[in-house]
Amino acid sequence: MDTVFDGPVVIVGGGIAGLVSAQLLLEAGCDVTVIERDDVVGGLAKSFSYDGFTFDVGPHRFHTENPNVKAYLDRVIKGDGTLFPRRSEVYFKGKYYRWPLHPKNLLQLPKGLAAKSFVDLGINNFREYQVDSFEQYVLRQYGPTLYKHFFEGYSRKFLGIEPRDTHPDWAKVGLNRAIIDDKMQMQNLTQLLKTTLLQYNKMEIDFLYPTKGMWQAWQKVRAEIERLGGRVITGTAARIQGANGRVEKVFAGDEEFTPSVVIWTAPITVATRQLGCETPNLPYLGMLLYNVCIDGTVPRDYQWCYYGADDLVFNRISIPKEFSTATVPHVGATGLNVEVTCMKGDERWKHAERLSDWVVDDLIKVGLIPNRRVVHDVYVERVEDSYPIYHKTYPADLETARKGLANFPNLHLAGRTGMFWYNNMDHSIENAMQLCKKLLRDAGKAEIEESELASGTAA
Ligand SMILES: Cc1cc2nc3c(=O)[nH]c(=O)nc-3n(C[C@H](O)[C@H](O)[C@H](O)COP(=O)(O)OP(=O)(O)OC[C@H]3O[C@@H](n4cnc5c(N)ncnc54)[C@H](O)[C@@H]3O)c2cc1C
Repeated sequence: MDTVFDGPVVIVGGGIAGLVSAQLLLEAGCDVTVIERDDVVGGLAKSFSYDGFTFDVGPHRFHTENPNVKAYLDRVIKGDGTLFPRRSEVYFKGKYYRWPLHPKNLLQLPKGLAAKSFVDLGINNFREYQVDSFEQYVLRQYGPTLYKHFFEGYSRKFLGIEPRDTHPDWAKVGLNRAIIDDKMQMQNLTQLLKTTLLQYNKMEIDFLYPTKGMWQAWQKVRAEIERLGGRVITGTAARIQGANGRVEKVFAGDEEFTPSVVIWTAPITVATRQLGCETPNLPYLGMLLYNVCIDGTVPRDYQWCYYGADDLVFNRISIPKEFSTATVPHVGATGLNVEVTCMKGDERWKHAERLSDWVVDDLIKVGLIPNRRVVHDVYVERVEDSYPIYHKTYPADLETARKGLANFPNLHLAGRTGMFWYNNMDHSIENAMQLCKKLLRDAGKAEIEESELASGTAA
């Protein structure tokens, strides 16, 4: 029985935003049901397991500066986590380099390229850029040489659109966080010098990882939701129906709910379509994962590495045992988590299995395995809605979608996919806390601090 709202809260999507919202609202006394399309919970942060090998969706690890998110993660992970510093690389013209680009490792680059990069940064002292695209943003940040060699091809290969047609937010949120060291400022030589001096004694950031794989965290949250009396329905896509200026019904298979509140974490464009609103162009990228199980070790020990070359089928590879050794059946075995991006329904998506041999041949080409015989299995997984594609007009399109959905005030968008937001797990957790705080306050519950929600003392 709901002690806060006048009916059940229905949450569409059992990824992080959905699961965390469910747990926090249950702890505050609400009646909550989560509906998840997939057979397992976790969304983009789920894992795949086969014969003692565990793979996530690409490299996944936690980092946050937010004390409330930290407190929540402490509750969830409770001693079942490992901490490690980042070790990532980029493969460039047949060689491996440390990544993110750091002033110190600019010097490791081929001499001509390093010299040109320094000259670019010198010229950048005097150049003005109109930062209206990914291309312009990176040119301003790193100059033409690094842009051409490291960013242009990778971005085109990854997103499938031209860097000049990509919104600068893709670089601001994506590159700064995922690819470039976010403390790094290299726009010109003066900044480069400053950063190098400041970074000299910088402490390494530690990342947190649940020992058995990402799934472990979300399995625990699901168990907690169920212990608190919530329901998690998996393997069923939800459908919503609007009438009288609200979402009146939510359907999950044969079941029907009359919700007081709906938290929507599935693609925003699915909500606009189901509610008959204008559906603008807000596409999501698809991803194929080739989870390669190997008898033996590999000669690199990176956690993940970027592969931007056009003649290689993959964009990035991660090695789960460099996050936790519990992700392989024995120390002598290695899993390689290989990412290939595409669009759902395109030729790659439809015939993904046919690319397996190409993936293995490219693993040989980049020196990770000596021959095909060491590969004992390749499991192919398709991941929908892996990234929102930030084309240049996306802010206006997003605004159109939001405006349409605002006509249904009991519908609340949340999380990466629901908000068309290129974010990280900690942001989805933070977003769930903020939304729960607002919903509880609007329902007349005494003001609850996010710190109380995070620590589970909000009831
Ligand atoms: C390759 C990759 C690497 C990443 N690495 C990191 C990292 O290292 N660190 C980090 O912090 N973050 C990382 N992220 C980001 C992180 O995965 C996301 O921020 C987070 O998982 C988003 O959670 P969410 O719940 O907001 O969205 P999602 O995980 O997208 O959840 C949405 C859920 O809705 C479900 N759904 C869709 N349609 C329906 C429907 N009709 N009915 C019911 N359910 C539906 C989906 O199946 C999904 O479970 C990475 C992401 C990717 C793709």
